[in-house]
Amino acid sequence: MRKEQIIENLNHVRERIVTSCHANQRDVASVTLLAVSKTRPAGDLRAAYEAGQRDFGENYLQEALQKQDQMQDLPGIRWHFIGALQSNKSRAVAERFDWLHTVDRLKLARRLSEQRPAGMAPLNVCLQVNIDGEATKSGVLAAELPELARQVAALPNLALRGLMAIPAPRTEDRAEPHRRLTQLLEALRSQLPEAPLDTLSMGMSGDLEAAIEAGSTVVRVGTDIFGARD
Ligand SMILES: *Cc1c(COP(=O)(O)O)cnc(C)c1O
Repeated sequence: MRKEQIIENLNHVRERIVTSCHANQRDVASVTLLAVSKTRPAGDLRAAYEAGQRDFGENYLQEALQKQDQMQDLPGIRWHFIGALQSNKSRAVAERFDWLHTVDRLKLARRLSEQRPAGMAPLNVCLQVNIDGEATKSGVLAAELPELARQVAALPNLALRGLMAIPAPRTEDRAEPHRRLTQLLEALRSQLPEAPLDTLSMGMSGDLEAAIEAGSTVVRVGTDIFGARD
């Protein structure tokens, strides 16, 4: 996509975030825009970077690592892995990412903690919750969340930052699943007062406003910045 178009789209998404924050009496600085750049060439990410974007979300490991190599000259990027991650591919995420949004099982979390290099800050993780209990979606069910959270919070080289979800689309009361995720995070905070639970990763191009209304702190936007994917 043309660089000018990406910048225009990015500014439009930023305006939507500001408008939603104001409508809900929220501080604009409390919401981080994560630019979801899966399938996009490094040049598109570069255009967003030049316009001040620093958080990038990737879904496919090989593709992400390639772009990281191509963008090594750009300081200050925070790389987020937001795709499904097989346990046998955990090492590259432990070594080269700042965040992982899709932890849904203890085995994966243990490996990541063991593989996080000494001298790096703990890997920031969110637990992915299957908030609508959909058979086709990954994520832990709400009933299993407290136990998994307790175990992940105890791992030395991970920082358990919060929860992530991809709610099923709905036409009425669009923020309802997002509010349930917010409540799950609040319950975890009282259960695990020592954990740095400050993150709700929810909201994409289609449900950004509903997510901010319900308390999202990270919106993950792809299409509305980089255009429709094939
Ligand atoms: C692709 C993707 C997004 C971005 O979705 P858009 O609808 O393109 O904004 C957000 N989160 C996850 C987990 C994704 O896989």
